Amino acid sequence: MLLRHTTDKVVERKALTVNPAKTCQPVGAMYAALGVHGCLPHSHGSQGCCSYHRSALTRHYKDPIMASTSSFTEGSSVFGGQANLLQGLNNIFKIYEPDIVAVHSTCLSETIGDDLGQIVKKAFDDGKVPEGKHVIYAPTPSYVGSHVTGYANMLEGIVKYFPESTDNLINQVNLLAGWVEPSDMRELKRIMKEMKVANVLLPDTSDVVDTPMTGKYEMYPKGGTTIPEMVSMGDSKHTLAIGSYATTLAAKNIDNKCKVPYTVEDLPIGLKATDRFIATLAKIAGVTVPESISDERGRLVDLITDMHQYFYGKRVALFGDPDQLVPLTEFLLDLDMKPVYVVSGTPGKEFQTKMKEVYGDRCPEAIVKNGPQADIFYLHQLIKREGVDLLIGNTYGKYIARDENLPFVRYGFPIVDRIGHSYFPSLGYTGGLRLLEKILGALMDHQDATCSEIKLELVM
Ligand code: SF4
Repeated sequence: MLLRHTTDKVVERKALTVNPAKTCQPVGAMYAALGVHGCLPHSHGSQGCCSYHRSALTRHYKDPIMASTSSFTEGSSVFGGQANLLQGLNNIFKIYEPDIVAVHSTCLSETIGDDLGQIVKKAFDDGKVPEGKHVIYAPTPSYVGSHVTGYANMLEGIVKYFPESTDNLINQVNLLAGWVEPSDMRELKRIMKEMKVANVLLPDTSDVVDTPMTGKYEMYPKGGTTIPEMVSMGDSKHTLAIGSYATTLAAKNIDNKCKVPYTVEDLPIGLKATDRFIATLAKIAGVTVPESISDERGRLVDLITDMHQYFYGKRVALFGDPDQLVPLTEFLLDLDMKPVYVVSGTPGKEFQTKMKEVYGDRCPEAIVKNGPQADIFYLHQLIKREGVDLLIGNTYGKYIARDENLPFVRYGFPIVDRIGHSYFPSLGYTGGLRLLEKILGALMDHQDATCSEIKLELVM
């Protein structure tokens, strides 16, 4: 197979990255912008970057992802892309009629030194932005950070522009969502409704990248956070930001600008992280947790108890984004599994600190690494050195799974060879049930396929 020459000899690398466990910043900026109603993401760079970012999202969501580009030529690559962006904004508002254009930069425009803030201001000054229309922007140089950084930067760009503070405090909570699937955003809204918490969810990609087939093409589907909702966020009583890498910047910005206090929590993946999310939400909103939510929790605990023997002691390797990996690792530890290798291409010391807290003195043999050299090649080397029982990660893990004959659960971004992630949530207690179903399914299918005939069990 493709990776059969991977050796178990880990060599310290300073610059080279092989099979990165991340993708580039603008992909995240594009995804965050899609969660705003009537918004067209715009890539300020070459056509190739924009095509790649759109196709990465289209392949994952199996829905057409729309975005425009400044379409840099050789000239703009040398002298700067201001003229292209000004012309582009003029054309976009005339031809595609979005309410908002969300501009993000690329490696090329950042390297040239284009100042998006100055160009966007000039677009407004020169009358390129029609009355009542909006242009927001975020710098997303892809040679630092990852798609998660891009998502965080665009989310900050959105809240820098829209929320306004008046004297009328609104009894609602801002819920800033980290990078999760549209199914998860729908699940968050269901939980809020169940708990009777008035809220604004930002961004909200449900009904944008998971639209039903109606036979009619809509360039701006019905989903996404609306302009009045985003403006009202400045008068909310609190911001709950879930997924610290993706949302802290935006939460701080709303606080600085509109004096809305904020709390940052992990994404509610698994039992404990969902407990924390529900408890914080109930406290902030001043509501009690309804019986229906307690029942959902009870069903998750029931499943864990019933199937514990299949989880116990299993060695797991996982890779992906920090906001997902932290609560997911905690969940695996709570199942008495052993997450022995955890790798993320997204840099930042916060990840290591949080992972230390999550592990405590559990699974002392664990290796946790993040940053540019924490790549999928390195993860494979670790697995070669000492094997695991389960691999969790995005589609790129399939090569390792095949080479090492491992049960493999697809989780994270991108998933381009299976479906389901857009439709079935993995957040909250109900999402936890689905996660466990996938993990158990992979482990049991593997056991059925590889055990000796006398060990094949009918009842598992
Ligand atoms: S890494 Fe840079 S050059 Fe490559 S696609 Fe992303 S933005 Fe474009």
